[in-house]
Amino acid sequence: MGKKLVLVGGGHAHMETLAAIGDFVGRGHAVTVVGPSPYHYYSGMGPGMLAGTYEPEGIRFATRQQVEKLGGTFVLGKVVRIDPAAGKVHLEDGTSIAYDVLSCNTGSQVPSNLPVSGHKVPVYTVKPIERLLEARQQLLALAGDEESRIAVIGGGPSAVEIAGNTWRLLRDAGLRRPRIRIFAGSRLMGRAPGAVHRKIHLSLARRHIEVVEPAVVQEVRDGKVVLESGAAYPADFIFLAQGIVPSLLFADSGLPVGPDGGLLVNKYLQCPDYPQIFGGGDGIHFAPQPLDKVGVYAVRQNPVLRHNLLAALEGGELRAFSPGGDYLLIYNLGDDTAVFQKRWLIFNGRPAFLIKDYVDRRFMRRYQQFA
Ligand SMILES: Cc1cc2nc3c(=O)[nH]c(=O)nc-3n(C[C@H](O)[C@H](O)[C@H](O)COP(=O)(O)OP(=O)(O)OC[C@H]3O[C@@H](n4cnc5c(N)ncnc54)[C@H](O)[C@@H]3O)c2cc1C
Repeated sequence: MGKKLVLVGGGHAHMETLAAIGDFVGRGHAVTVVGPSPYHYYSGMGPGMLAGTYEPEGIRFATRQQVEKLGGTFVLGKVVRIDPAAGKVHLEDGTSIAYDVLSCNTGSQVPSNLPVSGHKVPVYTVKPIERLLEARQQLLALAGDEESRIAVIGGGPSAVEIAGNTWRLLRDAGLRRPRIRIFAGSRLMGRAPGAVHRKIHLSLARRHIEVVEPAVVQEVRDGKVVLESGAAYPADFIFLAQGIVPSLLFADSGLPVGPDGGLLVNKYLQCPDYPQIFGGGDGIHFAPQPLDKVGVYAVRQNPVLRHNLLAALEGGELRAFSPGGDYLLIYNLGDDTAVFQKRWLIFNGRPAFLIKDYVDRRFMRRYQQFA
């Protein structure tokens, strides 16, 4: 007899399973997908959407449409608690959904531990990616004023990409020299190799994007970015890009989690205490080895999740996930250039951007076709 498979979040690790819904349904299983939006946005192209390089339709998957077309059920909502004893997920609106097998791909969020108070300026976190569209509209409203100051709080790749692409948006909107400042924590791109670091700094400096470092931000108060040192910088628009943490759903549900709060999973991407629960992407803590929070791992987990979910429904053998070796990173700097990094090979310029653009569009085409 068919069973109930529930997918929470239509993220990057669920792409293959979503594409295979027709197969699951054909074997008699009921598939339900829960998500807070009918669309899932591809983060790799998010900064480019902010700049206006891409339009929203080009960087999103029509999850609802795809699920329904392939014979599944899409529930618009947010899961707030998982009850493994009862085999149910509870939604924000008070309803619940029963499962035999559950897979969680709820991603990550920017931590909300930075105090923001007083006189209001627009403050946007870099995730969820769809909010970057709203940020784009708000930034365009500021574009008439040469004096507008944009602050980006964070020192990692997303801070760099957001700053570079904000520059592009405002420059294309007519600002001669957008005033953008990155508050980089201890050091901008501190984990990157020296060559990547230098190329990014040069690109930002050429465009007068200021990097304040060290700059540990303590709070945002009355439209000012206040550092631990006491220095305060006025800002008219603020992006928060100070790292990401897994969804709080698992800790809130009392499920086993890793040190970062991600759902603890074994080599089969399966919760060791509750073998009917699986997960992938930024929201898990992979017990065999901690994984960087990059989309690459979510994408690599796809075939294993798809296989293991079917195996769990039908009593088949599970397959182990191997994270694989080094991965490619390409940073979109917003001026039609990028920095390419794979092992010892590091270069920048237009070719690096064209490679990223090609890889990203190919990924979109591959999974957009199912809707
Ligand atoms: C600006 C930016 C640029 C990036 N660029 C790159 C890049 O170029 N390459 C790269 O490898 N990585 C990149 N990353 C990292 C990348 O975003 C993450 O590693 C990737 O998104 C992880 O995929 P995911 O599917 O786990 O999470 P997400 O992409 O966050 O997807 C999670 C999904 O679950 C849904 N969801 C969340 N909570 C719930 C809930 N409670 N109930 C139901 N549904 C829920 C969300 O709506 C979302 O659709 C970037 C990150 C940022 C912020």
